[in-house]
Amino acid sequence: MLVHFHHAAGVDAVQRTEAFLEPYELIVNRIPTDDGTYLAASGDQRTVPWEELERLDGVESVIPEPPQYFFASREFKRERTRIEVGDVVIGGEEEGDVPVIAGPCAVENKTHLLETAWAVKEAGAQLFRAGAFKPRTTPYNFQGLGYRGLELLCEVKEEVGLPIVTEVMDTCDVSAVEECADVLQVGTRNMCNTALLKRLGETNKPILLKRSYSAKIEELLKAAEFIIVYGNPRVILCERGIQTFETYTKFTLDLVAVAALRELSHLPIVADPSHGTGRPSLIRPMACASVVAGADALMIEAHVDPNLMIRPGDWTQAILPHEIEEIIAAVRALRVDQRVHA
Ligand code: PEP
Ligand code: MN
Repeated sequence: MLVHFHHAAGVDAVQRTEAFLEPYELIVNRIPTDDGTYLAASGDQRTVPWEELERLDGVESVIPEPPQYFFASREFKRERTRIEVGDVVIGGEEEGDVPVIAGPCAVENKTHLLETAWAVKEAGAQLFRAGAFKPRTTPYNFQGLGYRGLELLCEVKEEVGLPIVTEVMDTCDVSAVEECADVLQVGTRNMCNTALLKRLGETNKPILLKRSYSAKIEELLKAAEFIIVYGNPRVILCERGIQTFETYTKFTLDLVAVAALRELSHLPIVADPSHGTGRPSLIRPMACASVVAGADALMIEAHVDPNLMIRPGDWTQAILPHEIEEIIAAVRALRVDQRVHA
């Protein structure tokens, strides 16, 4: 259920309603929004006296069965959400530059990390990415340097000055990751990890939520809803390719999802043509196509020397940093007069 209060109702009315709901042993989250405060409750609500609840002082409305993703939806908020990471803006109503998040798949060693960070910065990328915690499909692949990787990321951030996007896989690592990261990434394999999503509701850093490669568009939005309801409205959606019957590409970058997400949600959208194709030659065209489809930003894997990356891994899809510059130029040219979206 959702209970809605206008701003004028004041915090007392919200607190009284929380106290009213206490005997029913529900989980109740308080969600402050531009449209007043909401209480979102889950649990056995069969004995809740709805009429009494509706009549409580300050209660504007009660929605016993809200839509599955309410706060993430365009119905809730028409205007597109703008998320600021330092000076970088992702999303929003203005069709400005398309920020690029670039960097290697994983933190492997300080030398390559630092060289790649300087090179992607030089190429025009505005955020730096690299995973310290790597979710892998097999235990035989490099799993990341973990806490040591975070330390290296902090050092590189200090030296190069680009904001950091890095993955968090486990609830117990969230505090450590948020100390270093400017944006916390949830990988495709963790999109359905509700314990992690709830924990990320407690951080005040933006969350880059990657679509599971086997999730429907609505399931991505429901995952985003978890983070919002548990306290963090700064969610960035990421299309990174889904599993299909195609084998020429590693995954199938689902650009229908990008356009559909823009229609269904106000949240910013990032496209990841690196994982979405697995092929360097396809990254530029699919980056451009993603932007036309409605992506607000791009995530691209780059490395100063992909041949030196740890194998097996994502070395086959990494592009050279100077190629980022070409992608940025190609995307900019597209953006000049783009009246594609309603
Ligand atoms: C990554 O960004 O390197 C990554 C592991 O992404 P995904 O979770 O989309 O596979
Ligand atoms: Mn990767």
